[in-house]
Amino acid sequence: MSIMVNIELRGCSEDELIKICKEIGLKRFRAIQLFQWVQQKAVRTWEEMKNIGERDRQTLRSRLSLYPLEKVREQRSKDGTRKYLFRLEDSETIECVLMDYARTSSRDRHTVCVSTQVGCAVGCAFCATGLEGFRRNLSVGEIVGQVLDITHLVRQEDPDFQVTNIVFMGMGEPLLNYDQVLQAIQLLNQAQGLNIGMRRMTISTCGVVPQIIQLAKDNPQVGLAVSLHASQDEVRNKLIPMNRRYPLTQLMEACQEYTQITHRRITFEVALTAENAKREEAEALAKLLKGQFGYVNLIPVNPVAGTGMERPKPELIRRFAQVLEDAGISVSSREERGADIDAACGQLRRQWEG
Ligand code: SF4
Repeated sequence: MSIMVNIELRGCSEDELIKICKEIGLKRFRAIQLFQWVQQKAVRTWEEMKNIGERDRQTLRSRLSLYPLEKVREQRSKDGTRKYLFRLEDSETIECVLMDYARTSSRDRHTVCVSTQVGCAVGCAFCATGLEGFRRNLSVGEIVGQVLDITHLVRQEDPDFQVTNIVFMGMGEPLLNYDQVLQAIQLLNQAQGLNIGMRRMTISTCGVVPQIIQLAKDNPQVGLAVSLHASQDEVRNKLIPMNRRYPLTQLMEACQEYTQITHRRITFEVALTAENAKREEAEALAKLLKGQFGYVNLIPVNPVAGTGMERPKPELIRRFAQVLEDAGISVSSREERGADIDAACGQLRRQWEG
């Protein structure tokens, strides 16, 4: 007698569903219908899958489990950003942000910032998630589920809503949950699913060197953002403890290898605080990035209770950018989103958990 394993439906590709359906005696077209209900139409219950009869649904339920995320809280910013706190099957909670440009300039770009872990082991000094420590990795279905459930929620108001871009920049270090994140990317990209282009997805890492190189080999289409934040090891060690394991020299070498393989520009993220927004820091950063194929994205921090970080004055941000530009480095400044809600990663969960 074979052991029946319950598999997470939202984490299955079309091919996996075809295989499962074959095993349980259902036709291939059932698998295709099932995949489309879940990954394209973003339905959350078996009952909504209208063209699958009750008997087949029962058979499928014996092998596949469907756990939609439960929305516990939602905050809406004046700028269109929506931040969600979702509860998982085991009662852990994660955050997820929709940066909804429909209310600002372009109607066509809807970016979702997803979480990849519950908590995070890295413990960056500026991050509310890091203060919590690591709890567990998210499964493929839980990662994809965030995009599906946001799609479902927004479609209740706007039936044509479609997520166009994904950033793996929420709670957790994506490259420390590498296999699940890569599988989630494949799923989000499937033509019969949400069909989000590979080049419209970006992984943000604090610098897990071996996985940066691995990513270049495994999926050279996906974008890479590196949370740099400091240009000297002594400073970066304090901000991002991962730097002790993979110091800047190793990180910069990995970035060069990444761009040689992928030919894609890297985004170097630099959070600016009242403390580091200095001319010397900008000059050191320009020196560090010399020869890299990438650009710097400056992010003035939102103050986070418990981290002691303060936002720099606008003139300091402008001066910092100017130093980089004078050194020939392209600079963008991340549009501040959701400043009137708890937009920084981990803040909402922290408040909720009290
Ligand atoms: S910034 Fe990212 S890597 Fe650092 S502690 Fe927060 S979630 Fe982890």
